Amino acid sequence: MTRTLGFDTLQIHAGSRPDPATGARQTPIYQTTAYVFRDADHAAKLFNLQEVGYIYSRLTNPTVAALQERMATLEGGAGAVCCASGHGAQIMALFPLMGPGRNVVASTRLYGGTVTQFSQTIKRFGWSAKFVDFDDTDALAAAIDDDTRAIFCESIANPGGYVTDLDAVAKVADSAGVPLIVDNTTATPYLCRPIEHGATLVVHSMTKYLTGNGTVTGGVVVDSGKFDWSASDRFPSLSAPEPAYHGLKFHETFGALAFTFHGIAVGLRDLGMTLNPQAAHYTMLGIETLSLRMQRHCENAVKLAKWLENDPRVAAVTYAGLPSSPWYERAQRICPKGASSLFTFSLKAGYDACVKLIDSVEIFSHVANLGDTRSLIIHSASTTHRQLTPEQQAAAGAAPDVVRLSIGIEDAEDLIADLDQALSKATG
Ligand SMILES: *Cc1c(COP(=O)(O)O)cnc(C)c1O
Repeated sequence: MTRTLGFDTLQIHAGSRPDPATGARQTPIYQTTAYVFRDADHAAKLFNLQEVGYIYSRLTNPTVAALQERMATLEGGAGAVCCASGHGAQIMALFPLMGPGRNVVASTRLYGGTVTQFSQTIKRFGWSAKFVDFDDTDALAAAIDDDTRAIFCESIANPGGYVTDLDAVAKVADSAGVPLIVDNTTATPYLCRPIEHGATLVVHSMTKYLTGNGTVTGGVVVDSGKFDWSASDRFPSLSAPEPAYHGLKFHETFGALAFTFHGIAVGLRDLGMTLNPQAAHYTMLGIETLSLRMQRHCENAVKLAKWLENDPRVAAVTYAGLPSSPWYERAQRICPKGASSLFTFSLKAGYDACVKLIDSVEIFSHVANLGDTRSLIIHSASTTHRQLTPEQQAAAGAAPDVVRLSIGIEDAEDLIADLDQALSKATG
């Protein structure tokens, strides 16, 4: 067939061929650490990167490779590297680009854990981050300096219901010759494909909607294959000779797959944040129903957000899928099929009522996760965003009177009834 396959077909078939050894139709879990070499020459070629194959599961594993191919396909990228977590994927995305003294320019609207990783932990590597409001493209352009090696944002930002104008940000990144990394966790490739809006790399926490049922911790970096790593001398890990591989130059040798090969041959080899084959299997099972779940997640989120918006106990709802949102028009352009199911609302009765609400829900689970089939609730200021200063909390949309919801795929009417009774207890 010469047809371009649709998303629903690809989410089931991409990367997953019948097992060549047994014909098993579902991708087997290759629960093995190592692979037998055909002979000494074969082994030498694999270690020299002259032939692609399996050596050791810290680097490559057939189950994980199937998931990598599926994710690269769904995002429209050239290649992908799976990692043990979303945070692992962020380090793996930055690792080939950064070095001591280099910086990443990041959006102020980010997952709380990412703000901590970028503002604190990466300093230990000699890297730093500058946080900017990405709606101010002049400020973004001004923040980029000679040491900037990446620009980082989320397509739909966690937790505030904010959507980044990826096209505008990509334009700034492009004219500065710096790669744009987009965390597409909240949107998933079903709702948004950042590469089509100019992203160089896409990272995911597969822990969330991709696996979709709260069973796995995983991450992935997808490379568009479009960035010219050799256009300047700013990305020597990819453009200059690599001593550990007899002076091989990744970009010259692997072209559009340079970043992916480097991620496996150097990143996973030496940082070791590898996804295990069991986790890859669960994630692929989840992805098979991604589009169906995301449709229902979005449908339910719209119903709940509208109901909350009209409730007198609620001060405000921030959901880019509501016409009242300042980012509604932008969402229609960046993620036209829906604004995902993560949003926040604030209570007129403030902090104490938020805490009481969370203790009163019956169907919603109070957990620090999102993107589950189950509906989830959390008070960000006292949990996920606790490490941040009050200014950072407010900038991230996690002020003390704000509750975050991740709407699941249950009956919307049951979810509304649950919030209604909990709101009565919290404010009564
Ligand atoms: C959860 C999350 C992460 C971190 O992913 P882990 O799999 O928990 O390491 C990063 N970015 C966003 C947007 C997330 O929601």
